[in-house]
Amino acid sequence: MLRARAAATRRDLVAASRFAEIIYEILTRVLERYAEPLPLSIQKNSDSPILAAQQTRRKANLPPDQPIPHVIHSIEKAGVLVLALPIELEKIDAFSLWVGPEPKRPVVAICANKPGDRLRWNLAHESGHLALHADLKQLRAHEHDEADQFAAEYLLPEIAMRSELAAPITLSSLAPLKLRWGVSLQALIMRAFDLNIISQWQKQRLFEQISAKGWKTKEPPNLNIVREKPRGLRKMAEIAYGRPLDYARLAAESQLTIEMVKQIVEGYEEAASSADKSEKVIQLRKVE
Ligand SMILES: [Zn+2]
Repeated sequence: MLRARAAATRRDLVAASRFAEIIYEILTRVLERYAEPLPLSIQKNSDSPILAAQQTRRKANLPPDQPIPHVIHSIEKAGVLVLALPIELEKIDAFSLWVGPEPKRPVVAICANKPGDRLRWNLAHESGHLALHADLKQLRAHEHDEADQFAAEYLLPEIAMRSELAAPITLSSLAPLKLRWGVSLQALIMRAFDLNIISQWQKQRLFEQISAKGWKTKEPPNLNIVREKPRGLRKMAEIAYGRPLDYARLAAESQLTIEMVKQIVEGYEEAASSADKSEKVIQLRKVE
């Protein structure tokens, strides 16, 4: 039963990766005539996942003990293209791959409609793979664990957790921390346990309460974390095809249907709604 599910998930992942590659190739072939993502500044790191996470924060000028306001923006500023796929998959929220001709570019693809807190965790997890692992097609179980260790330190740095996760830890004491740090209650419970701030017994009790309230897959709406959207690809499209976007021309030049192009672009943040419009996620390229 479990094995069949794992195989189905792998099949989904292979199909979704192929889809992401096609979308990436079609759109960047058209868009990179006008604009391209910022130069790549992620660094392969052979240190521990924890040191790699601390280094990634430093390189992005993020303070060591404060929440990351927008994980996708941090990834985009490092030159990674974030691709919003208009597909929903049961088990897959995000995945990363290297695409295009040499030198290949890293892409983090995100699937539609997953809660915002889960998406942030999965994006951080994928950043961990990009920083730590060479072969993203054959990831092994311990490498997923390392990516989770990276995500934990990147999103919830130990130095901050030691002061903010103060006893007694209850679901009510975790609620404001969830909103502040943009992660699930369950991620905070696991972090508290991994840092030995709560015991195995306390962890179990808290998870029992989560289950009893029916929050295992969906945490309460009053603690909702807004789903982040990428912006790089849409900005490239707007530079190339104007604002409001000329969907018909983009569709014609990329040989996709208008509906398909709209579905893809809708996954992106509009320039007007960007938290900080001055932040660069692309650079202009001269058209020959
Ligand atoms: Zn993984």
